[in-house]
Amino acid sequence: MKRKAVKRVKPARPKPVAAAPHASLAGYNKAAIAALAKLGIHREFDLVLHLPMRYDDETRLYPISEAPEGAPALVEGVVIDNAIKYRPKRQLVCTVEDASGTVVMRFLNFYGSQVKQLAPGTRVRLFGEIRQGFFGAEMVHPRYRVVREDTPVATTLTPVYPTTAGLSQASLQRFTRDALKASEMADTLPTKLLERNRLPGFRESVAFLHHPPPAAELAALQDRTHPAWRRVKFDELLAQQLSMRIHYDRRKTVGAPALPARDQVARELLARLPFKLTRAQSRALDEIRRDLAQPHPMQRLLQGDVGSGKTVVAALAALQALENGYQVAVMAPTEILGEQHYAKFSTWLAGLGIKVVWLSGNLPRKDKRASLDEIASGAAHIAIGTHALFQDAVEFSRLGLAIVDEQHRFGVRQRLALRLKGSTAGSTAQPHQLMMSATPIPRTLAMSYYADLDVSVIDELPPGRSPIATRLVADKRRDEVIQRIRDACVAGSQAYWVCPLIEESEVLQLQTALDTHARLQCTFPELTVGLVHGRLPTAEKLAVMQAFKSGAIQLLVATSVIEVGVDVSNATLMVIEHAERMGLAQLHQLRGRVGRGAGASTCILLYQQPLSELARERLKIIYECSDGFEIARHDLRVRGPGELLGARQSGVPMLRFADLVADVDLLEKARDVAHALLRDEPAVAQRHLQRWLGGRQDYLRV
Ligand code: ADP
Ligand code: MG
Repeated sequence: MKRKAVKRVKPARPKPVAAAPHASLAGYNKAAIAALAKLGIHREFDLVLHLPMRYDDETRLYPISEAPEGAPALVEGVVIDNAIKYRPKRQLVCTVEDASGTVVMRFLNFYGSQVKQLAPGTRVRLFGEIRQGFFGAEMVHPRYRVVREDTPVATTLTPVYPTTAGLSQASLQRFTRDALKASEMADTLPTKLLERNRLPGFRESVAFLHHPPPAAELAALQDRTHPAWRRVKFDELLAQQLSMRIHYDRRKTVGAPALPARDQVARELLARLPFKLTRAQSRALDEIRRDLAQPHPMQRLLQGDVGSGKTVVAALAALQALENGYQVAVMAPTEILGEQHYAKFSTWLAGLGIKVVWLSGNLPRKDKRASLDEIASGAAHIAIGTHALFQDAVEFSRLGLAIVDEQHRFGVRQRLALRLKGSTAGSTAQPHQLMMSATPIPRTLAMSYYADLDVSVIDELPPGRSPIATRLVADKRRDEVIQRIRDACVAGSQAYWVCPLIEESEVLQLQTALDTHARLQCTFPELTVGLVHGRLPTAEKLAVMQAFKSGAIQLLVATSVIEVGVDVSNATLMVIEHAERMGLAQLHQLRGRVGRGAGASTCILLYQQPLSELARERLKIIYECSDGFEIARHDLRVRGPGELLGARQSGVPMLRFADLVADVDLLEKARDVAHALLRDEPAVAQRHLQRWLGGRQDYLRV
């Protein structure tokens, strides 16, 4: 198999360690560069880190008759027959013979040149799986090459790389081989550190993973527990820990208004609340208050399961900023949730001389202008809104604290934009930032992706909540569900009916919601059935929610727009249609809309058979677990961190090699080593980061 040679310029050497990882792909042809970019390979060193996903063993040559069946093997022989046949499809059939027997090669796709190349008398070496076909032993589309009698066999396992269209394994093998030779491979880490952590050298590890000797333990390579793998994973985790830690420390060099606790208004609010803060709420609040008093920007994530009471903690934090003469912004991902916060804050703070304004993209122009003016003049103390809050037209007079609810719904960029609102002209000071999330993050995730934030956890629910009973009901038993709704509403309760997620089409999803609403209206002539979905005009959306809250609507048909935040404590029944289509986090969030009051609540998950393996597992987990943290741990296992983190991933180097479930010990080691290096050997830390992140360290500015 001849391939076109790719001309490349060898980078000049010698060069300092730090420069090597920057060597770009200059000298590779355009098509190769484009294909490599799709694999995330932008510099030569990325090729060094493009590790095989598996290996082929072409180190051992089998006699044809002794080749194992059901596994790929290498055999060699001479072509004794070669013909294009119709069986019934046109195909090239070649018989190859060695001293022990014969095997037939079959090609359904082939070039004319191959027919010539495989003329009788040619000696070929084939790699593939031998099967007993109708015409005896055969290999379909084996990898083959023409050899001489004494052509040596490979001395290392053959790497098989993740690849993409237009980039052959052969090219990748050659590119990585060259990159291994041309790149600076010196260890970034001191020998004694490696010894202490029982890790092999970088050069040996990477060379081993690309080209393992035949004796290598395949199982340890495949499941990535081999010491060479552990070294690479450790390096990756260390780079991540270092960059997060540097980012964290850098914050201490940035200024923010110090907002000490004054506690006048806060005490008033506490006195008017119909409940006492839970211990967990008080603890989280204390942590936030301490941060706000510092002259550096707080960046704290407030985590707490659905219904744990994060909003009131946020409101109390807001008061601390207000009492120091600063403004507060509260950003919510949906209008429904934003409006609900606006109503809640307005009620809580009524009569305390605090001006709360509402800002959303859908506000009538006149109202919007009024809100913007009040925000800019400082007349507004608290601005609550949606994404509209961080748009260019919004100018704060003195923003001291930005609160982001359901932060996982926002992109890194949006949060950054809101923070920059606080930097007044001529000053580099930033507002404090409080992010809230009900998507609980397992400890390992927090230790890695959130290592640049401080985290407060509300780990208890307010007292008096009765647990939510979860029922799995096959769709054909829908009638029983109808009866339950009737019973609940007759008893004075309220219910949600959540329409299925239809990812392929928003129009279809809307239609389904409309149909469901019409159908349920007929089913329940005695009830008021409402409908809310994302396409409804804002005013209508809010009116429906208000009517549900006041009890005028008893059954609310909704799309997943009600997924986050909505708080109606009299609703005790939720039906989720086609629950098998929804993810774990989403199901947990939706279910959290009930069980908010004292009444016993039920969540009915209607599912349609047959269930996929994944759907079955998800439903089992949601049925068995009510604890958000436990669900998140399962989610991490089922889906991996990428999806769990949502938008955040765009701002943080994702892990390619390390596995947060399997490699916890390495993660802990990496964290400790990162701290020690930054303290004692910053040059080593720099060198390591340079190798792993190249020029991309910037994206941690956020
Ligand atoms: P989440 O953490 O999901 O945002 P919310 O802040 O919406 O939760 O709170 C859920 C409900 O619990 C609200 O109705 C809120 O007023 C109420 N709540 C909050 N804290 C307490 C508490 N300590 N005791 C009783 N109810 C509380
Ligand atoms: Mg909330």
